[in-house]
Amino acid sequence: MTDIKNEYPLVIIGAGPAGLTASIYASRYKIENLIIGQAVGGLVFEAHKICNFSSEKEITGRELTKKMQDHAELLSDPILMDKVVHINREANGFKISTEFGKEILAKTLLLAVGTEHRKLNLPDENKFLGKGISYCATCDAMFYQDKTVAVIGGSDSAHTASLYLSEMAKHVYQIYRRNKMRGETAWVEQLLKNKKIEIVYNTQVIELEGKDKLEKIILDNPHNGQKEIMVDGLFVEIGTIPRTNLAKELSVDLNGFEYIKVETDQSTNQKGIWAAGDITTNSNGLRQIITASSEGAVAAESIFKYLQTLK
Ligand SMILES: Cc1cc2nc3c(=O)[nH]c(=O)nc-3n(C[C@H](O)[C@H](O)[C@H](O)COP(=O)(O)OP(=O)(O)OC[C@H]3O[C@@H](n4cnc5c(N)ncnc54)[C@H](O)[C@@H]3O)c2cc1C
Repeated sequence: MTDIKNEYPLVIIGAGPAGLTASIYASRYKIENLIIGQAVGGLVFEAHKICNFSSEKEITGRELTKKMQDHAELLSDPILMDKVVHINREANGFKISTEFGKEILAKTLLLAVGTEHRKLNLPDENKFLGKGISYCATCDAMFYQDKTVAVIGGSDSAHTASLYLSEMAKHVYQIYRRNKMRGETAWVEQLLKNKKIEIVYNTQVIELEGKDKLEKIILDNPHNGQKEIMVDGLFVEIGTIPRTNLAKELSVDLNGFEYIKVETDQSTNQKGIWAAGDITTNSNGLRQIITASSEGAVAAESIFKYLQTLK
């Protein structure tokens, strides 16, 4: 196995599709690069079934992650599985410090750190985490064989979570605060046809109850009032929020929703720093594997041009 070096022309932070694709492109431009990522695949790893990535009619997130990782690592150093905790600007680039105590120098940086799950922010949400509450159906559905579960949300990730859970759970409630589902029509059609899934529109979960684990949830509908339902599991799929701590530390400009502002070549307002994937304002806000990958490719090409100017 190749040793990780102390210095690289390019360090990519994030091992999701944006970071992995950027690395593949950078390697083919012969830019020595290192990916530092906490979780290889990022959110892709959590996707149960992916049916909209060109070349793959149907693939699990784990399989697609493996393919992308193998491709990236074939061309460059192995991914450093670690968390970046600080980045300091130095005279000729950046000093990156990780949770496990590594210090790596980089001439250029690509921030591809993606987003994290939005929480309900209800009392006891943390107490029931892993005891009935989950943010990842692909990871935890197997614990709910023949049980009753609820999914909160109305987007594609909520739809795919409900459909996957319906393969093993006895009954699935999908609770959504609006009166019409969002997302891909193909998923919505499957959802509405599925006999095990009961859609509860115009409703919010306002309370979580249970002794040692989640046992019931209290629902509120502005027209019909409150009611409680007994559930063994609750899957929260209400969107994601950008991870901004590193961008803020580096004074990278963010928009009003805290996504990193980027130019069409994925560069940020800070010299030597690019951003790609779900964390950015590009791709018209379509936060998907293909758009994250495409932004990673564009960033790599732009970084290549920049590094040429330093020669
Ligand atoms: C359940 C679910 C199903 C989905 N299904 C589909 C689908 O079918 N089709 C589709 O196109 N899209 C789908 N998506 C969306 C898709 O997964 C995202 O758009 C895509 O993963 C974004 O890629 P990214 O590389 O920008 O970020 P992410 O995939 O979020 O990756 C971010 C990376 O950054 C790393 N990271 C973060 N902070 C640090 C740090 N401080 N130090 C080191 N590493 C760090 C993470 O560990 C991770 O490796 C789905 C998402 C979910 C949640």
